Amino acid sequence: MTKLPAVDSQYLLDFLTGLLNTPSPTGFAHQAIERTEEALQAFPGIEVSFTRKGALVAVWPGENADAPRALTAHTDTLGAMVKEIKTNGRLKLSHIGGFAWNTVEGEGCTVFTQSGGKVRGSLLLSKASSHVYGKNVNELERNDENMEVRLDERTNTSEETRALGVEVGDFIAFDPRVEINNGFVRSRHLDDKACVACILAAVESMHTAGLKPVQKTYLHISNYEEVGHGAAAGIPAEVAELVTVDMAAVGEGQTSDEFHASLCVKDSGGPYHHGLSQRLRKLAEENNIPYKVDIYPYYGSDGEAFWRAGGDVAVALIGPGVDASHNYERTHLDALIATTQWVMAYLLNA
Ligand SMILES: [Zn+2]
Repeated sequence: MTKLPAVDSQYLLDFLTGLLNTPSPTGFAHQAIERTEEALQAFPGIEVSFTRKGALVAVWPGENADAPRALTAHTDTLGAMVKEIKTNGRLKLSHIGGFAWNTVEGEGCTVFTQSGGKVRGSLLLSKASSHVYGKNVNELERNDENMEVRLDERTNTSEETRALGVEVGDFIAFDPRVEINNGFVRSRHLDDKACVACILAAVESMHTAGLKPVQKTYLHISNYEEVGHGAAAGIPAEVAELVTVDMAAVGEGQTSDEFHASLCVKDSGGPYHHGLSQRLRKLAEENNIPYKVDIYPYYGSDGEAFWRAGGDVAVALIGPGVDASHNYERTHLDALIATTQWVMAYLLNA
């Protein structure tokens, strides 16, 4: 058993912070894909290409190529689209991905206009002031009808808002508000940028140590996961095994926490591949990687998207514990390092 190379946690956190601060709601994730491409270009030997749908697929040559492997993680995140410009100049939204409006209430946001402009604003309840609306502020349901974006511009009519270049269909990204304290990383969209950073950190560590994966390895960086079909395309036909790297769900009744990586053996889509899961479990034991085994009750992954699209390979899922997922999330460096080590243990295992 070869000892795993050390993880460069500064590299991991620097890349992660940059990626978190790159807006990438599903359908508008190209900047995060480009940022990942740039980071991968620092490693000679890794070749990057793109699917027609816009996902990044990198090939990392290995010692062997008789049973190629793939890792997938996604750069796209929750977000919204302008659904309607209201007569008062504010915006009604349509969700991108599955989240409750209260989890982004009061959050700053950016509207990306068709001409490439950016308009700042914030998401609020339409009856937001307690001095004006009293108990309505508490009681009004947080739904599509009652939430609106207030733009930081002088506009009180739909015409004035349109004059800013804002139109139906414009993408909206919510501010991630990244903060790192005592090893805790607190930010929106750690799902799944944390795991993209773990894959990059694994590449960086192995590259620095002069190590190659045992098998030719594809890195599939997805851009449509949050709406369910990210990795349905783009995993090359010769791939024999797929490890999905995505966040672990932390909360009441869960074994996962912010200090461990988790192996998800079952989620809403059913069990993952038992044999591959068992191998990952054994690798965690052998390499003293802090891990948990868990089931996520309301969860789907790009691994399952690939299975549903007809992918005939073993699929398993690992990832760091993320507290308050699809909300203001948080994880810890311990979980990120554990996930990175697990990815390396897998890539180096014959
Ligand atoms: Zn995810």
